[in-house]
Amino acid sequence: MISEKIPFALIDAAARLIDAAEHIVITTHMSPDGDAMGSSHALMHWLQNKGKKAVVVLPNAAPDFLMWMPGADRALLFDKQPVEAEKALAQAGLIICTDFNEPKRNGALGDLLLASQAPKIVIDHHLLAPDSTIDFAEVVMRYPESPSASELVYRVIAQIEKTALPELSIETATCIYTGMMTDTGNFSFNSNFPEMYEIIAHLVDLGVDKDDIYNRVNNAWTADRIKLVGYCLYEKMRIFPASHTALIFLSSKELYKFNFRSGDAEGIVNMPLQIKDIYYSVFMREDKVADWEKEKAGGADKKIKISMRSQGDRPVNIFCHEVFHGGGHKNASGGEHFGSLTEAVKLFLDNYEKYFSKE
Ligand code: 5GP
Ligand code: MN
Repeated sequence: MISEKIPFALIDAAARLIDAAEHIVITTHMSPDGDAMGSSHALMHWLQNKGKKAVVVLPNAAPDFLMWMPGADRALLFDKQPVEAEKALAQAGLIICTDFNEPKRNGALGDLLLASQAPKIVIDHHLLAPDSTIDFAEVVMRYPESPSASELVYRVIAQIEKTALPELSIETATCIYTGMMTDTGNFSFNSNFPEMYEIIAHLVDLGVDKDDIYNRVNNAWTADRIKLVGYCLYEKMRIFPASHTALIFLSSKELYKFNFRSGDAEGIVNMPLQIKDIYYSVFMREDKVADWEKEKAGGADKKIKISMRSQGDRPVNIFCHEVFHGGGHKNASGGEHFGSLTEAVKLFLDNYEKYFSKE
């Protein structure tokens, strides 16, 4: 039986805000992944079916392998359509933030989010970054132990509709399933929750084609992407056996060689963990400094995006927070460095032995 995880007071407050709003904006984190797209679009479909004027506003585009998701082509992209996106935010009587809790993870949209007078609801499963609060939102439903924000969206809908097995449209159900699948690595981590499979059983019962979704997300690579992975593993991976650590880093020149597109690096950081006795994996790539983060970059013209993964009781979020201004989950975190790739690699080399256990 699927339990009522979210306290009634929060559900009631969210339901009232939804009832009161005609125009609702749903937004999610920068460089949206399957769970960001799934949680935001599931809500959009559900709200539209309730007669609301709901629109998803994204800081930037999702990778191609998620663009088949129902409604994904209708999302407003703040970096490409700033006027339309701002108009949608200005009209909104309610803003729902899924899969993030820090305005800065909302990219350039973060400032608009903070400036908006509309009430806000957060539905998220990330830890709160140290020194951070979510006081920009009226209703916060944040459960870090939950495997995906999409599952939380299911639970919010179920509790608002007062049934464990809500009658969802195929679009809503498909979006929820996609986020549940991608944020658990196709149910290979964070996935030992019996209730999760009860939800999935219901989604499949509603018509979700889980095999098709797996194919659409995972078997849609370009040849360049798979060659990039080969290059990373064969040419670029450095192993530090004493610390059970692997490091891969890519310059923009290397990325250019493989026609790098957003999403192409997805999953590379997980691969070294397949090696016996490797428990930490770090991936870095050069990126551009966007206009909206120029101030934060303090004059640097390059940004390095850092991803870290680990296994078991070996946190990587502290390293990401303290050295790379980021954070995340214990076993999956990220951060950034404004400056050169050489500097970022040096920061890693100078610090990994302090943060990574030799056991
Ligand atoms: P990824 O490595 O896939 O980019 O991110 C993994 C996780 O790390 C994300 O789900 C998010 O929780 C966290 N993360 C990634 N980049 C950042 C960052 O720049 N700041 C913070 N606070 N968290 C990040
Ligand atoms: Mn997520």
